[in-house]
Amino acid sequence: MTNIAMIREFGHEQIAYFNNEKAIIALHNTNLGPAVGGCRLWNYSSEEAALFDVLRLSRGMSHKNAAAGLPLGGAKGVILADPSQKTPEMFEAFGEAVNTFMGKYYTAEDVNTDTKDADYILRTTDYVVGRADVSGDPSPFTAIGVFDGIRAVAKFMNGSDSVEGLKIAIQGLGKVGLALAEMLCEAGAELIVCNNSNREAMKYAVEKLGAKEVARDAIYSVDCDIFAPCALGAVVNEKTIPQFKCKAIAGAANNVIYDDAAGEALKARGILYAPDFIINGGGVINAGQEAFTTYDKEKVLEQVHNIYNVVYRMLEESKETGKPEGVIATEFAENRIRNGLDA
Ligand code: NAD
Repeated sequence: MTNIAMIREFGHEQIAYFNNEKAIIALHNTNLGPAVGGCRLWNYSSEEAALFDVLRLSRGMSHKNAAAGLPLGGAKGVILADPSQKTPEMFEAFGEAVNTFMGKYYTAEDVNTDTKDADYILRTTDYVVGRADVSGDPSPFTAIGVFDGIRAVAKFMNGSDSVEGLKIAIQGLGKVGLALAEMLCEAGAELIVCNNSNREAMKYAVEKLGAKEVARDAIYSVDCDIFAPCALGAVVNEKTIPQFKCKAIAGAANNVIYDDAAGEALKARGILYAPDFIINGGGVINAGQEAFTTYDKEKVLEQVHNIYNVVYRMLEESKETGKPEGVIATEFAENRIRNGLDA
């Protein structure tokens, strides 16, 4: 596919390439408001791979922001460089690139960029959200949204949204996974956990939260009520689907379902799925508020708790239509992008 054909297929408003640093900013859609999406630093194998990634990620941000009920569009920036070679000048140049959108694009941290890099970007542009001194770390809000989404799944499965006594397997005890584990433990769930490298988090989960540890690849076949992926994307795929003994999948990781076929196969196995970009929207609800109003933590929490209702609605519509939950979620978001947030 040519680049132009690829851009047409994704339906973007604008793609801009920047010469001062090797960067691409993809503005997917601004129907609902200025577009928000982070700045990713990645050593792409080719320019084409970078373009594909930024197109996919920016469209994903339009879906995530619309589904979260935010008056924001979707965009993303990528800097094509080795993360070990990052410099302040690189981010200052990225800030100048952001300025060329004159307020239509707000950037933020993303993979391989952190608050320090955001401070460099802030030297040259004001269009940055998720500032350390305003909304701060998004992870606790993401974890709250995932917890609420899990309660909605429990309600749908069992008629009660209590997680007491439910067996929940968490993959990844990072910023979100560990905070989620604490909330679930407090609410009486039985935890099964794995993490590939963070021994300290594992020790804490086992000793303080009473979690059972399993080997990394054993997490998929744990006999449990809910599998909560909080580490990697694409973990629902042709290899893992036959292994699952869970009744539902609900976690923080992005792009959990490998492809459309995997979504269909999961549905055929009767395993419920809380769509990733809906259940993990707490972080962007927190940071995104900076782009359209004065930051207000209470309002943020109110909107994060609404994830419960949206997840429940996705499960209901999937049951009624027979379509996978991920398909329902994309249709829901695209309808809002076309017709407004009340749609
Ligand atoms: P993190 O980097 O803090 O934690 C991820 C953890 O997963 C790490 O401890 C890592 O060692 C572990 N891990 C990696 N591969 C693993 C494997 N194969 N098996 C077990 N553990 C493994 O990341 P985070 O901020 O907690 O985010 C977790 C996921 O949620 C990511 O996919 C992220 O994209 C997504 N997400 C995060 C946020 C947020 O606010 N932080 C928002 C939306 C989505």
